[in-house]
Amino acid sequence: MTGGRVLVYLIRRDLRTSDNPILHHLATANHGFTYLLPVYVLPPHQIEVSGFLAEGESNPYPPAVSKVGKFPRCGPNRAKFLAESVWDLKKSLEALQNGLAIRVGSYADVLTSIVDAIKSTPHHIGAVWMTDDKSYEEIQDQNYVAKVCSNSGIPFCLWPDEKYFIDDRDTGLHKASDLPDIFTTYRKSQEPLRQRPRRSLARPAIDTLPPFPPPNWRPAQKDPFVAPVSYEEFESRLLKPVQDILPNPPPYPRDATSAHPFKGGELQGWKRVFELVKKGGMVHYHETRNGLLGLDYSTKLSGYLALGCITARQVHEELLKLEDGLDISYSHSKGFNKGENEGTKAVRFELLWRDYMRLCTMKFGSQLFRASGFKGETGQYEKKWKTANARKAVLGQDPPPDKIKVIIDRFLEGRTGMGLIDAAQRELYHTGYTSNRARQNVASFFAKHLGIDWRYGAEWYETMLIDYDVSSNWANWQYVAGVGNDPRGDARIFNPVKQAFDYDNNGSFVRTWVPEVQPLEKLENVFQLWTTDEEDLEKHGLTENVMVTDPIKKIDFMVDRKPRSPRRYRWKRARGGRRGGSSAPFGEHSDSATGTSTDGDTPKNGTPWPSESTTHNSSSGQNGGTGAHADGPHITGPWASRTRGSWRGKGRDASHTGRGAPAWSYSHSTPHHPAQSRYAAASAPPIQSAPLRPHARGSAPNQVHPAGSVPISAQYQPRPSYPTHGYPHSSSHRGPSG
Ligand code: FAD
Repeated sequence: MTGGRVLVYLIRRDLRTSDNPILHHLATANHGFTYLLPVYVLPPHQIEVSGFLAEGESNPYPPAVSKVGKFPRCGPNRAKFLAESVWDLKKSLEALQNGLAIRVGSYADVLTSIVDAIKSTPHHIGAVWMTDDKSYEEIQDQNYVAKVCSNSGIPFCLWPDEKYFIDDRDTGLHKASDLPDIFTTYRKSQEPLRQRPRRSLARPAIDTLPPFPPPNWRPAQKDPFVAPVSYEEFESRLLKPVQDILPNPPPYPRDATSAHPFKGGELQGWKRVFELVKKGGMVHYHETRNGLLGLDYSTKLSGYLALGCITARQVHEELLKLEDGLDISYSHSKGFNKGENEGTKAVRFELLWRDYMRLCTMKFGSQLFRASGFKGETGQYEKKWKTANARKAVLGQDPPPDKIKVIIDRFLEGRTGMGLIDAAQRELYHTGYTSNRARQNVASFFAKHLGIDWRYGAEWYETMLIDYDVSSNWANWQYVAGVGNDPRGDARIFNPVKQAFDYDNNGSFVRTWVPEVQPLEKLENVFQLWTTDEEDLEKHGLTENVMVTDPIKKIDFMVDRKPRSPRRYRWKRARGGRRGGSSAPFGEHSDSATGTSTDGDTPKNGTPWPSESTTHNSSSGQNGGTGAHADGPHITGPWASRTRGSWRGKGRDASHTGRGAPAWSYSHSTPHHPAQSRYAAASAPPIQSAPLRPHARGSAPNQVHPAGSVPISAQYQPRPSYPTHGYPHSSSHRGPSG
């Protein structure tokens, strides 16, 4: 065959040039490809692509909305982070004398158009490569690609996904079904964690990759879409259709600062890693990890890890450099050359949680999306979740579906009246991030206090989170909702009032994101606005606020063993008998804070969640009662350095006033893309126990598999050995800037 041999590399969640097995192989091995065409595909079932339509064209794909809640599947915060990350990769590849084609369409359509375009040139496609992904839709996409390759006689290869902490081939699990259902059991089987990860791979040197196809025969974007030519255009086309996804959004508070102001991309990910190690963030992590406000209480690496801008083993290696004193640039950092410490150990522990959630996806397949979760497999767990879908609701559901829709709307907007939940939801809406502590409370509140189908919540997180990761999100929601791998299941319930007293013990977090409560002095009022006495409500213009007149949930809570408020049961006197004198809006009952939590590993931090009780010692808590959060500078409001005091500021009435028609609805009439059938498939048996080849450390080279017939075992080829960079530190190993 004349002409060049082109390798098409379909990039998904591997938005990096360093520790990238495919690029590393191409830069260091004898492969015989003349050209490398890396392509990033914007898949229309997961990202709304109508912004890329050429003038006057219409979208051949259905809208990218979720199944249960009909939310846009990728909201503005993640769309922006994604755009930054993809563009950063493009720039990095260009710096390596290659490039990146950004294409819109299903994987099958994009690949078919590339195959057709290259057929009309003297060149031919030598192979199509992708990194193997283990979640339902991603496997479907792989299968579509394999089929296109098979039809065209093109070899297709899935490369092992190496962005996790412990490589699949080293876990000792022979098949996915061997994974223990309890994290602790799995963790113990892997310890000591510090010794487990494989070494990362060097970034290719300049001019070592095959060149990018020149413009005169490079396959173009197929109609009716246009490919972006500048970053600004890329971002604006991605964001245009998902700008206003809440018809009645909460206002952005004047003084609030995002805990996640970071930009996407490999370069930015590395900046964050270096900064964390240098400034001691990794060492302090163990003490600060349960924080709610500020930049540095936790690593904020999740977005970079989720998109594969950095890998878990790269983070681990950076920790090694600090612990073992291997990088002089860390010589002034806390923990330098002192071995593993509580903080670095805890970070590794969390990275293992991330691995575990993905292994659960491999074990349970599409059960990840099933309302009865991983537990449903046994047929013993069939809880009747409340739903806004009249067709799905059980007969006599209380509250009825239309009321549940109102509750869900208020939950999304952060107007439930439960301070901690509302603050977390507003922070999420405005910034695309909220802490792990907040996520646990939100999920528990939604699934356990309100009893609503937890998948609405998981889908909303998918829409809003910058760091959305299919396994981490859905498996964590399952865990907290009681249908996943939490051994305590339904018995673990977070009391969001007690949690607020414990983890927001000066009210800074709630006051930051729910400005309506800023002027209130008493924490119990900040955490549940309806407990405020009438005089204060009137003084601050809050009497008619929906969080006072109609809180979605009321939780009895004692502060220092005293009744929570002198003005108990005010709602009984609410105007117009709105709730008919009931203390239980929407048919719910006020609950006292029950539920204890005493077992070991939970999907955060490895320490037991604090026990729940109905009394609270307000001097306890993670902030030590100082009133100033560790990340004080980021809290610019007047409350930054005080525990209690006279909160000045004008109360704002954010009552739930009339609203326009929502941009999406619960009508359940929107058709969806076949690839969205992850829910439909949830009733199908899980992906059968993908074999995991244990301990096959670097020997044989990767193989290219014939089109369309990639045996699952072949997805776990041992990777090449590591001849090209020094371990554990070499200058070529310092990420993209190295
Ligand atoms: P750190 O506390 O600094 O932890 C370091 C890293 O460990 C994180 O970046 C993350 O990669 C990993 N990690 C930590 N906790 C977990 C966990 N429980 N499960 C899996 N990985 C973990 N994380 C996501 O990355 N994407 C999600 O979509 C996601 N959805 C979640 C939904 C719910 C309901 C809950 C309770 C948790 C969810 N998490 C998710 C896990 C966790 O909340 C975030 O990883 C963490 O808050 C991100 O902030 P960080 O990077 O500062 O984390």
